[in-house]
Amino acid sequence: MTSKLPNSAPVVIIGGGICGVSTLYHLAKRGVNAVLLERRKIASGTTWHAAGIVGQLRDSSSQTELGKYTARLFRDLEEETGQATGYKQNGTINVALSHVRQEQLLRTHDHAARMDVESFILPPAELAEKWPWILTDDIKSALYVPSNGQVNPLDVTTALSKGARAQGGLLFEHTTVTSLVVRDGKVSGVETDQGTIATDKVLLAGGMWSHLFAKAHGVTVPLHACEHYYIVTEPMADLPSDQPILNISEERTYWKEDAGKLLIGGFEAQGKAWAKDGIPSSFEFDELPFDMEQAEPELELMFARMPALSGMGIQTFFCGPESFTPDGRPYMGPAPELEGLFLATGMNSNGILNSGGVGLTLAEWLIDGAPSRSMSPLLASRAHPFQANTAYNQERAAESVGFHYGLHWLGHQVLSARGVRRVPLHDQLTKAGAAFA
Ligand SMILES: Cc1cc2nc3c(=O)[nH]c(=O)nc-3n(C[C@H](O)[C@H](O)[C@H](O)COP(=O)(O)OP(=O)(O)OC[C@H]3O[C@@H](n4cnc5c(N)ncnc54)[C@H](O)[C@@H]3O)c2cc1C
Repeated sequence: MTSKLPNSAPVVIIGGGICGVSTLYHLAKRGVNAVLLERRKIASGTTWHAAGIVGQLRDSSSQTELGKYTARLFRDLEEETGQATGYKQNGTINVALSHVRQEQLLRTHDHAARMDVESFILPPAELAEKWPWILTDDIKSALYVPSNGQVNPLDVTTALSKGARAQGGLLFEHTTVTSLVVRDGKVSGVETDQGTIATDKVLLAGGMWSHLFAKAHGVTVPLHACEHYYIVTEPMADLPSDQPILNISEERTYWKEDAGKLLIGGFEAQGKAWAKDGIPSSFEFDELPFDMEQAEPELELMFARMPALSGMGIQTFFCGPESFTPDGRPYMGPAPELEGLFLATGMNSNGILNSGGVGLTLAEWLIDGAPSRSMSPLLASRAHPFQANTAYNQERAAESVGFHYGLHWLGHQVLSARGVRRVPLHDQLTKAGAAFA
């Protein structure tokens, strides 16, 4: 892309995944010519292989705001940049198989109205009409959100980089940031394998690489990579390109049209951490071996839900890594341990749908000192220093994969990586019958 590194920059962004590139784009829109550094090619980390679903209704208003803005941005980006993004508003349908999930759908329907996102409860007959390939007899109700959609993650990242560069943003591929330069407790630059850039503001948008990079500088970014699976069928002649995306939370599966084929993914109740000994330095557009045993429970449910699948060819069994955090939420905003360092990382498989909002919000943080919308549940400052513990993150992130389709009860307790931190009276409290939360 650009050839010579500048000596200084108002902002340096580490990582050319969709979140870093979106921030470069939004900074450029505000007249700030930031520099983005990517160790390989843009989108070659996690972004390129995402399923590209853009759902707006998340479990907090803050994250819903990110998704809403992303959906708006993706609608207009192709026209602005001339780069196709594959974005379409084919809508999503979430179904409930039990009364508990039915209650959850009704609450989501309410949340949608409060957040100004149109949604409809679909009668079972209409669902069966919209999704004739699956068994629907046991489905109690369905929630349809027409303004949700899907995008091609690689193309949309390219469009954002094109839009950023057209407005003065600088993007350097094959440039690895080896360390931050810190002076008097503040960021004063970055060292790269191509030279040094002076800056007092750095955004770490390094996806699954962020934890160890930050840790090397005494900054806590709790996350770890876990495996994520989907399958892609052979082409289906009768599958319309505007087929709504389907989510079956109780079966932990999502279903979407993908270039005339059906892409079906699953989020296991208990995920599997990847790269416990570190991410291979050669990682670029890589995929991981498909662990049939790990994916089996969701695969069985897919085949039971759509009997015709058994007679069809499955063209792709895909597995790729994605970062998950201890509480299933991203880390955004200033890192409290190091002045001048900002974070946009730990996307928990929502990085495509978050990306527009992440870029907009981080640009405000970097330019104005604060975002114009509340990001309380997503603040980087919620991390505790003990969460810099890499073994803890490996264990907990695997459980976090299950949060994706889990029920988010108030007071829900996690099961993994317990006892990492203990009070001095721990043993006496245990003997006295204490319960720990
Ligand atoms: C199979 C699968 C399906 C998914 N489906 C969806 C979906 O439907 N919808 C959705 O919203 N999300 C989905 N996701 C999640 C989504 O892909 C991610 O959340 C998103 O791509 C994360 O983007 P990112 O920019 O944070 O990270 P990345 O794309 O990983 O980018 C980080 C970049 O930083 C670079 N980097 C790291 N360290 C350095 C350094 N020191 N110097 C220079 N560069 C560095 C890396 O090379 C990398 O390119 C899916 C994920 C998977 C695995």
